[in-house]
Amino acid sequence: MSAKILIVEDEPAIQELLAFNVTQAGLQALCAEDADSAWQQIRSNVPDLILLDWMLPGISGVTLAKQLRADMHTKDIPIIMLTARGEERDKVLGLESGADDYITKPFSPRELMARIRAMLRRHAPPMPDEVVAAGGLELSPASHRVTAKNAAIELGPTEFRLLHFFMTHAERVYSRTQLLDQVWGTQVFVEERTVDVHIRRLRVALEPAGMDGMVQTVRGSGYRFSIN
Ligand code: CA
Repeated sequence: MSAKILIVEDEPAIQELLAFNVTQAGLQALCAEDADSAWQQIRSNVPDLILLDWMLPGISGVTLAKQLRADMHTKDIPIIMLTARGEERDKVLGLESGADDYITKPFSPRELMARIRAMLRRHAPPMPDEVVAAGGLELSPASHRVTAKNAAIELGPTEFRLLHFFMTHAERVYSRTQLLDQVWGTQVFVEERTVDVHIRRLRVALEPAGMDGMVQTVRGSGYRFSIN
């Protein structure tokens, strides 16, 4: 899945140019023209990176960057600030507000894309490569394969992360909120019910191997992965 870049820019021509370059690079472009529409976008579709114009009508880019940093769901999203200002003082102010990088208009699309790529690489969520084994299940993060008693199991990306978390944290009960934080990450706005949906899918995938019982519902508390 390609990374989602939210472009917050009020000038239509620049917004269009940015969206064009982002899309050409194989990434997904989301657009907003001010802070309010940026928040709307973020709530429905959390971006992997935000390109933020300094001068926005209403709430400024600097203030929006501060708001993003203060919210637990958005505090880790990398921000590249775009500005016509080139003064050192403004650069410092932009970075202090919470931006991770800073690019001055007019910019070369190539340089901008290189900065975006570098930022995305730096912020990719780490998953250790070691193969994990528990109770007849074997999961390899590097090859993205899971086997149950040596038979391959097909899992979606979320079920894969969920199972990886369970296998590395067996025999403990986790609430839905804890699972959301651990597996989905705090940058995501999802309801607790989402956890139940993925738990169900995980059980369905484990059922042919007779291992669905390892994913246990603990009434009133959450879920536990048990190999006993
Ligand atoms: Ca502007």
